[in-house]
Amino acid sequence: MAIHNLGSINIDHFYSVPHLPAPGETLAATAYGIGLGGKGANQSTAAAKAGARTVHIGAVGPEGAWTVERLNGAGVDTTHVSVLETPTGHAIINVDATGENAIVLFPGANLALPFPKVVSALSEAAPGDTLLLQNETAHQEKAARHGRDLGLRVVYSAAPFDPTAVRAVLPFTTLLILNAVEAEQLCAALDTTIEALDVPEILITRGAQGAEWRHRDGNRAFAPALSVKAQDTTGAGDTFAGYFCAGLDLGQKPQAALAWAAKAAALKVTRRGTADAIPSAAEVAAFGT
Ligand code: ADP
Repeated sequence: MAIHNLGSINIDHFYSVPHLPAPGETLAATAYGIGLGGKGANQSTAAAKAGARTVHIGAVGPEGAWTVERLNGAGVDTTHVSVLETPTGHAIINVDATGENAIVLFPGANLALPFPKVVSALSEAAPGDTLLLQNETAHQEKAARHGRDLGLRVVYSAAPFDPTAVRAVLPFTTLLILNAVEAEQLCAALDTTIEALDVPEILITRGAQGAEWRHRDGNRAFAPALSVKAQDTTGAGDTFAGYFCAGLDLGQKPQAALAWAAKAAALKVTRRGTADAIPSAAEVAAFGT
């Protein structure tokens, strides 16, 4: 089995600033850091570190080669990451002294991957494999339809929330992943309730309140969040999504996969950073024992 993730790859630039810049202001940052980010790269990193065979489908620009090496280093198969002449997606993240942030995101190469590249990558997928999607790339609807036709489990992490994308991808989705805010946004946008949504499986993560999974056949599972000292919750949801998909792909029952993902996400929350801070399966196994 394998997870094929059509996902974003971003370069995150972090600046510590005394306050968020005002219009027209030029502000000196007091610290700078750079890291691998993007919901797609984070989820691939989590799934691969969990031990699932994970193939990333995506694109970077000429200056993004290191991000591909970083994914490779985490165990992700990057054969289907294209290098295009468009700049790598990147985020300019200003964080002020109180921890408040303001972010400029340039999607760049993430939106420039030609769809035939997705089709060619998925020609290696086998029925029962997972196709993972988020909302930071192009072609979600076409990829979801194609994945469904190939007999793949289409897992849709519908973030950042986009009502148009959700409407288009939902009919092909096997498992929908949302956080609590996205669940509210989705219900408001589609004027419905989670119970009434026509999707076989739904996973909702609720931060420190834990996570719930429901199947429309009536099956339910719940995993409370572990009690940890939170340092940085960035990427908690992506860690959870990657570990949950990996658990199911590796043959775990939903309840076991949920508990495993909750442990991995809690460990991530105790660390600063995104992709690089996602723990390995061995670290998760050693955590809290
Ligand atoms: P997102 O990062 O998408 O906003 P959540 O905030 O719902 O997603 O977090 C995803 C999962 O990460 C939660 O279901 C929980 O298991 C874990 N998690 C998040 N915040 C904490 C926390 N403060 N303590 C322990 N676990 C947490």
